[in-house]
Amino acid sequence: NCVRVELGERGYDIQIGQGLLERAGELIQPLMRGNRALVITDDRVAPLYLERVEKSLLDAGVMPMHTVLPAGERTKDFPHLEALLDAMLAAKAERGTMVVALGGGVIGDLTGFAAAILLRGVDFVQIPTTLLAQVDSSVGGKTGINTRHGKNLVGAFHQPRLVLADIGALDTLDRRQVLAGYAEVVKYGIIDDEPFFTWLEANGKAVVDGDSEARAQAVAVSCRAKARIVAADEREGGVRALLNLGHTFGHALEAETGFSDELLHGEAVAMGMIMALRLSVQLGLAPATDLERVKRHFEAVGLPTTLPAGRLWEVPRLLAHMQGDKKVRDGKVTFVMAKGIGQSFLTREVPEAELAAMLAEMAAGR
Ligand code: NAD
Ligand code: ZN
Repeated sequence: NCVRVELGERGYDIQIGQGLLERAGELIQPLMRGNRALVITDDRVAPLYLERVEKSLLDAGVMPMHTVLPAGERTKDFPHLEALLDAMLAAKAERGTMVVALGGGVIGDLTGFAAAILLRGVDFVQIPTTLLAQVDSSVGGKTGINTRHGKNLVGAFHQPRLVLADIGALDTLDRRQVLAGYAEVVKYGIIDDEPFFTWLEANGKAVVDGDSEARAQAVAVSCRAKARIVAADEREGGVRALLNLGHTFGHALEAETGFSDELLHGEAVAMGMIMALRLSVQLGLAPATDLERVKRHFEAVGLPTTLPAGRLWEVPRLLAHMQGDKKVRDGKVTFVMAKGIGQSFLTREVPEAELAAMLAEMAAGR
């Protein structure tokens, strides 16, 4: 199963299926300009999958070296970027060296950014091992790190040469991480693919519970959606912003929890999509039945639809976080709203009073 990201000379394939880790070498080798690969991964993924990938590279005549970083969002920072670049240079990386990101979105974002700036840009391949990375972060070429001023504020657009989404790698992922990634899957349905949302209503439980066929299908449809949107707007001048559905709200929630494990990104996005739909219904743009449908689906698979209790959510603070978002222009936030499932659109015209009212309802746990 293969999806092509049509970006001219920067175009690339996304391979989706079983057993791709074992075939990484044979699939990567034809793209190589040299015969060495640097595999970057984290200390949770390394014991699970590093050996398999390195063996397949060796079998294909590629000399692998590796760097293992600590697992977790905190690794996406300047100190780890510096350490990674240093390790790459110490390994005598050349323009023809292939960099391989093996792991979740943290490894993909950090490694992609390192590849973008090492020797002014070397080729890299994404081997995403979380559902979130397979359906979202490994595709599209956004790379970067967090700074103390916020998440993903320093980075580069640098497209990979290939993405290998091995569905089997998801078998070792814990349920909470699977659900967080699943939120991004549902996102594609709500953005512009109502039939996919309907398919998820029937098959989403199987996707979450580990059915490989259903997972492969969900990843393929998601990647096709992302590939299409990225090809239409690589640098987010327009439609690519639709991918931020639920993210402006979700980001505010994550900021309140300090981007800690208290709230995973995907969990925040799930709540954020509910917020976007609630606001859309409240403004008379979308039918309440569509909001109910999304809520019912989230509840069926185990995604949150309300804000976590046990924390005081303050509306002014949430509003302030939204104003600090990257997507703000001239002090105005670009919102992704929806006329219904599969009918999202961008707008900068949301009355602040309506926004505050919706946030107050959510903050009250309703
Ligand atoms: P992550 O990389 O931290 O992975 C989550 C956890 O799962 C980690 O502990 C990791 O070690 C572990 N793990 C990874 N694969 C595993 C496997 N197969 N089995 C068992 N454990 C495994 O987080 P994530 O959710 O993959 O990605 C989140 C990051 O992605 C954030 O930094 C976010 O900003 C970024 N992101 C980037 C884009 C983009 O377009 N570049 C899009 C969305 C998200
Ligand atoms: Zn996201």
